[in-house]
Amino acid sequence: MMSETAEQVRESASEPSLRRDLRDLSFEELEKIVAESGEQPYRARQIAHWLYRRGVDSIDAMRDLPAALRAFLKHNFKISPFAVAAVHRSGDGTRKLLMRLADGEEIETVIIPADSRVTLCMSSQAGCAMRCGFCATARMGLHRNLTAGEIIGQIFAARLELAEGEEITNYVFMGMGEPLANYPRLLQTLRAMTSPWGMGISPRRITVSTVGLLPMMERLLADTSVNLAVSLHATTDEVRSRIAPINQRYPIRQLLDTCAKLPLKRRSRITFEYVMLSGVNDSPADARRLVKLLAPLRAKVNLIFFNPFEGAGFSATGRPAVEAFQAILHKGNLTATIRESRGRDIAAACGQLYAEHRSAD
Ligand code: SAH
Repeated sequence: MMSETAEQVRESASEPSLRRDLRDLSFEELEKIVAESGEQPYRARQIAHWLYRRGVDSIDAMRDLPAALRAFLKHNFKISPFAVAAVHRSGDGTRKLLMRLADGEEIETVIIPADSRVTLCMSSQAGCAMRCGFCATARMGLHRNLTAGEIIGQIFAARLELAEGEEITNYVFMGMGEPLANYPRLLQTLRAMTSPWGMGISPRRITVSTVGLLPMMERLLADTSVNLAVSLHATTDEVRSRIAPINQRYPIRQLLDTCAKLPLKRRSRITFEYVMLSGVNDSPADARRLVKLLAPLRAKVNLIFFNPFEGAGFSATGRPAVEAFQAILHKGNLTATIRESRGRDIAAACGQLYAEHRSAD
């Protein structure tokens, strides 16, 4: 019987736009392809090396492969080019890359240097379906899921923008989209990022941020050992349902009960993100409720300044009130950091990753 992979190969061979990106294949699939083309098994590792270590954007560049294998790969697969449409540089060193995908969709990837770290903020979807009221990306709605090739391609595109000696140290899925709503592709990406056959990045340097899709959170922690960040943003169901509609499906109690049961790695903690919205979720009573809610968990809190955008309908809590909120959390023995907004002058800050540059389509 013909395997699924072989069928897919045959179906797509005639139509270049339907060819799968080599980076959308799991390592097992790569091995299968190699076997089907009659080559030695070690060729799969060679291909993965070119894809994930060298980050090549053409099959021709895989110089140590036999010509016949390269021809076979070229006939059946592609490596989508990175297509960086624009780079915006902020005064604080933040760089926002606008990437144009093959079908004209645009996504953003942000390089954020701070202290000794360089964090890459990656997108997992073009747009988002979660409808959070304070998020600019939500206004686009969901255009489509990104493929693994498109997610991982952001890393190589970003590397080309790095200065001499600069290196990405941390990877966060806090750009456009809800990563856990694109789980199969996210998992494929995380495997390629962390496996020895892939990029060999430590999972401790990777953080997946979610609005709280509970079943997928459990799967993520079962399948990987990356860090988890949960966008909480409120201490009552009334407020959270209003600003993050997913709460109607998975209310706060259920969310936190699920978090309590997650198999966290030794010493690791869940980060709870909390965007401070003036008069909405930023009162001292909120801070005290947050302490109570998170006390039973291995948690830390990341307080985030709201980044306003046109028509948002929210305003940011001022620094003194954010610091007072933080002080109450500290008094309650809860670790809380304040996320300084970066790249604000280029609209690269959280929630502002909105594809404004859409070409006339
Ligand atoms: N969908 C995922 C990941 C993308 S959002 C999630 O919800 O976690 C990444 C972080 O940016 C989230 O904590 C989100 O709530 C926050 N964010 C969104 N819009 C923002 C805004 N306008 N100002 C500040 N932070 C924002």
